[in-house]
Amino acid sequence: MKALVAVKRVVDYNVKVRVKADGSDVDIGNVKMSMNPFDEVAVEEAVRLKEAGKVSEIVAVSLGGKKCEETLRTALAMGADRAVHVETEEKLEPLAVAKLLKAVAEKENPQILLLGKQAIDDDANQTAQMLAALLTASQGTFASKVSLENDEVVVTREIDGGEETVALKLPAVLSADLRLNEPRFVKLPNIMAAKKKPLDKVVPADFGVDITPRVHVVKVAEPQARQAGVKVADVAELVEKLKNEAKVI
Ligand code: AMP
Repeated sequence: MKALVAVKRVVDYNVKVRVKADGSDVDIGNVKMSMNPFDEVAVEEAVRLKEAGKVSEIVAVSLGGKKCEETLRTALAMGADRAVHVETEEKLEPLAVAKLLKAVAEKENPQILLLGKQAIDDDANQTAQMLAALLTASQGTFASKVSLENDEVVVTREIDGGEETVALKLPAVLSADLRLNEPRFVKLPNIMAAKKKPLDKVVPADFGVDITPRVHVVKVAEPQARQAGVKVADVAELVEKLKNEAKVI
């Protein structure tokens, strides 16, 4: 059984991004970039399924500029077998990503497709759902537990106030939540070995997919700065301020 894992190159989660002076976007020039944290979890899950003998091959896919190669090499070092880079310098919206992943999936024919639940740069949380719809495949989003049995995948989903367990027919698109696993630390020999693993390059035009953006960002702004707090002498003063200044009680 083949697994396909989508890995996005995003601004590292430790970086505090700044808004460009003209408010058109955030400035990501010269900031550290890494694999989207939820995608690391997705790769780890695919590798664990392979180690358990449930999956025979893992194909990692990334869409974007030249440097996505680094993200794919990380996925290969974690245990993916092959990589596909859909190279484009155009800004890709979730619908375009889903269409391109569909095209790759139609070529590769995976039974299980693992994505992150959301990319930490656009926070869209759309791609897995759109991909499942486009492929008319089952979908198990926000997965915190996955078990693969014959022609079914049983997924425990993180939902409001609890968990839901669903059994899905294959092929299935899953989106990984952080609780699914803890990604492994990549060791140097694996990083070296990953350099020799196959990495194929394609461009969106190879699939005839229209990636024209449909959304225009009107404005990006910093959140309002928090006001400084004040120290109160006792509970009575606190209650008085909450009542008469903040007017929240
Ligand atoms: P989003 O819907 O944008 O929040 O992204 C959800 C998931 O879709 C990510 O965690 C990735 O697994 C996948 N994805 C989105 N954009 C890309 C991309 N450019 N390359 C590879 N995977 C992507």
